Amino acid sequence: MAAKKDWAAAMRPLLRKYKGQKHPLEYHDVYQLLVMVVLSARSTDVHINAIAPTFFSAYKDMQALSGADAKDLFPYLKGVTNFGHKAEWLVKIAQQLKSNSAIPLDMEGLTALPGIGRKSANVILRETGRPAEGIMVDLHTIRVATRLGITKDEDPSKIEERMMKVLPREEWDAGMAMSFLGREICRPKPLCEVCVMRNECAYYKKK
Ligand code: SF4
Repeated sequence: MAAKKDWAAAMRPLLRKYKGQKHPLEYHDVYQLLVMVVLSARSTDVHINAIAPTFFSAYKDMQALSGADAKDLFPYLKGVTNFGHKAEWLVKIAQQLKSNSAIPLDMEGLTALPGIGRKSANVILRETGRPAEGIMVDLHTIRVATRLGITKDEDPSKIEERMMKVLPREEWDAGMAMSFLGREICRPKPLCEVCVMRNECAYYKKK
């Protein structure tokens, strides 16, 4: 039987390159971070960065947002995937929290809010410097994790569970690091020849 792979060691080159790198969303406070994370699901960060300044000049904080109707937000969300639901979630969150200082910064509190799942919560905890309570898994992470051979599963919650099992907590930034690799190098058409993970990658070994 083959020895179990030491994923903590295997991930070192990736974490050396990306650990702690700031998220591409250009937020200026935790309120903006939360709003932009909700809006960015299935939309690009580039698009959300482009619409954010106008949105935040109209709704500068949770209090301002709590006085809006979801429909009021629509003109500011042009081109955002699923903008109707996202507008409803954001207004509900604002009505529930009422101020920026009430934003919960733990997994339980964040995932209790409408429109925020573990992926979004993991991003918010990471960007606000809170201790990791999970591993961020987005579409890029899924592609990289399956290619590397960490898992065959494409279900984000199973990938997160698997990674939390094989990596020590201090390396849980690996999900975001894999997302950065997936955006830059391990794209749908991968650039394996310049990838720091090629010595550890099942996909590359089979090529
Ligand atoms: S070696 Fe290729 S397939 Fe493997 S992680 Fe790097 S870019 Fe992706």
